Amino acid sequence: MSVKRGGRMTEGAHRWGRRDVLRRAALVAGGAAAGVGASEAWWLTHRRLPLAGGPAGATVGNRLQDVGSGQLAVVWSGPAGQRQVALTFDDGPAPQWTPRVLDTLAQHRVPATFFLVGAQVRRHADVVRGRLGEHEVGNHSWKHRDLAQLDADEAYDDLSRSHDAIAEVTGRVPRLLRPPYGHLGGAVLHAAARLNYRLVLWSLQMAEREFPDDPAGHARRIVADVRPGTILLGHDVGARRRLVALDGLPEMINGLRARGFSFVTVSALLGPCIAAASTG
Ligand SMILES: [Zn+2]
Repeated sequence: MSVKRGGRMTEGAHRWGRRDVLRRAALVAGGAAAGVGASEAWWLTHRRLPLAGGPAGATVGNRLQDVGSGQLAVVWSGPAGQRQVALTFDDGPAPQWTPRVLDTLAQHRVPATFFLVGAQVRRHADVVRGRLGEHEVGNHSWKHRDLAQLDADEAYDDLSRSHDAIAEVTGRVPRLLRPPYGHLGGAVLHAAARLNYRLVLWSLQMAEREFPDDPAGHARRIVADVRPGTILLGHDVGARRRLVALDGLPEMINGLRARGFSFVTVSALLGPCIAAASTG
């Protein structure tokens, strides 16, 4: 990105220069008692500049950056050229529903991608050990914290801890990252580049709230909404209402096959065409 001197970004940077922010921080501290600091406090918490590598910090220090291959792909969906769809399940593993999802996928010979939470992997290693077959695993952080609120070092530490747990327990090195809540900040992008990940969001998600107690209706809706290249977000852990999606999973699979779709992992869907780590 090139920004002309005197352009909007420069003005913005001047407007929120370090001294201004520090002054505003002092105002917030001093003004809180007077009840005038609420909007300033919100701004500082949620929108602050990457001072000292704070949240949204996109660099670490003044030395040459360790940024892996130097590129990072962020994807919502795959190429639209083939009738392929990637099912993804976040937040596991957990003993309650993960085995059931794995059973359904195995019965229908459907590969999927599981975005695993590192601490859950350590805790429930037995749930996934030896059961991942043709599935792919991705990193979904260590404890499902909002990575966009962490600084660059914290985000990297969180993700590498989870990365190591996933690699050790599953025997597979994750190449994909899905940040919790899909929240992104500069720190997340930086850490993802360092770890040579592709950053994977989604183009369609389960709509459980709209179909309480109606797995068949929910499945029909998802089948109708999928397009070639769709990355579909689901969860194998969570509130009971999410069972609507899992209860209707066989119908979803059959319905999508009837529409001519085949199921692939996220990496298979993306193929090598999108900038990926050379250190695969
Ligand atoms: Zn999640």
